[in-house]
Amino acid sequence: MMKKLFTALLSLSVACAHAQNADSVTIRKIYNEALANGKSYEWLRHLTKQVGPRLSGSEGAQKAVDWTKQVMEQQGFDRVFLQDVMVPHWVRGAKEEAFIHNGKQKVTVPIAALGGSVATAPKGVEAGVIEVKSFPELRAMSPDKVKGKIVFFNRPMDPTKINTFEAYGGAVEQRANGATEAAKLGAVGAIVRSMTNVHDDYPHVGGMRYATGVPLIPTAAISTNGADLLSKSLAENPNLTFYFKQNCESLPDAKSYNVVGEIKGSEKPDEIIVVGGHLDSWDLAEGAHDDGAGCVQSIEVLRILKTLGIKPKRTIRAVMFMNEENGLRGGVQYADLAKKNNEKHIAAVESDNGGFTPRGFGIVGTPAQREKVTPWKPLLAPYGLTDIGAGGGGADIGPLAQLGTVLFGFKPDSQRYFDYHHTMVDRFETVSQRELELGAASMASLIYLLDQYGL
Ligand SMILES: [Zn+2]
Repeated sequence: MMKKLFTALLSLSVACAHAQNADSVTIRKIYNEALANGKSYEWLRHLTKQVGPRLSGSEGAQKAVDWTKQVMEQQGFDRVFLQDVMVPHWVRGAKEEAFIHNGKQKVTVPIAALGGSVATAPKGVEAGVIEVKSFPELRAMSPDKVKGKIVFFNRPMDPTKINTFEAYGGAVEQRANGATEAAKLGAVGAIVRSMTNVHDDYPHVGGMRYATGVPLIPTAAISTNGADLLSKSLAENPNLTFYFKQNCESLPDAKSYNVVGEIKGSEKPDEIIVVGGHLDSWDLAEGAHDDGAGCVQSIEVLRILKTLGIKPKRTIRAVMFMNEENGLRGGVQYADLAKKNNEKHIAAVESDNGGFTPRGFGIVGTPAQREKVTPWKPLLAPYGLTDIGAGGGGADIGPLAQLGTVLFGFKPDSQRYFDYHHTMVDRFETVSQRELELGAASMASLIYLLDQYGL
């Protein structure tokens, strides 16, 4: 009896070792292909330099849809298709103007309207400034003090956080909801310190939203150097005024698309695994790290599988989601269609944290689902993928969670992401070919394992 059991256990562990060995050979091939013959970098060059900025509803966004569809068709994937989605169409208009008016002197500072903001009056707005570091600090003020003023939200991202996304999370409410908080007390404008740890002259833009029932006041990001100057000037002269003028506008919703490429599963075609990024970018950015990188890496995952002759058991889809930046309509639409069409999505992987050196994956799923990933860790560790565990998935794949899909967020090194985030310096030149390709290989390896073993 014992001997039988022992023999059974031994053959089981031999079988496991064989599987592990075969998997490690395949993963090695995936990395070889990505690093020796990778296509993601040249695709990213095209998407950033030839297509360029691609905010939802813009001509650039439409070009990006057409081009990524064409690229996936050229790769000969089994199916390439579009999903219609109506998206917000916000436009910046003429470049903003702003200055600190200190007695007789006017000092120009760089600002940019936040996405979704209303314009100022055509002649701009000029008012005294109330600087605050937090919403509680603002709420404690008497409305008399704030009424007719511009509120200046100046809490920096916490530089002591090792993961910069945590620091971002700790500051970004100022950008998202600052205008509403300021308007509640009668302010006429809101200026928000850029979300970055670096001291630079670029306004880092991003989305904001208005609460219903609160006046819509114009809001803009100011560069960190500009914010420091404004804060210093206020300390010297609390009665200075700030002027800004912006010309943005929300047009009627526009028709756009998610772009999907697919390799059909050979054994379980009804089980779908998604790998994706978002195709839209901010209007001032080429959107290299955010999120051209995630898009080209996702297409590269399918290309690598196909080129290596790996026939997935399950259906693998590369999805270019539209409108992550100012609406998430593409991600919501994708999940709605999956539900409507009764599609079974077992897992989704998103790359939307930049094209930097891979570190691991954050997983959104039950403890039992996370446990299934444990045996894969030794296969991924040799490639620097050691940070694998509970964590964020991604905004676009988030809506799939309600269908029971297990979500994986690709985690590259986070130290430089916010140097470029949502600015004109998020451009192709800041992306390392090698780091981008390592990311594509990391995602392809995870997709391979998800396909082999399910969840
Ligand atoms: Zn993004």
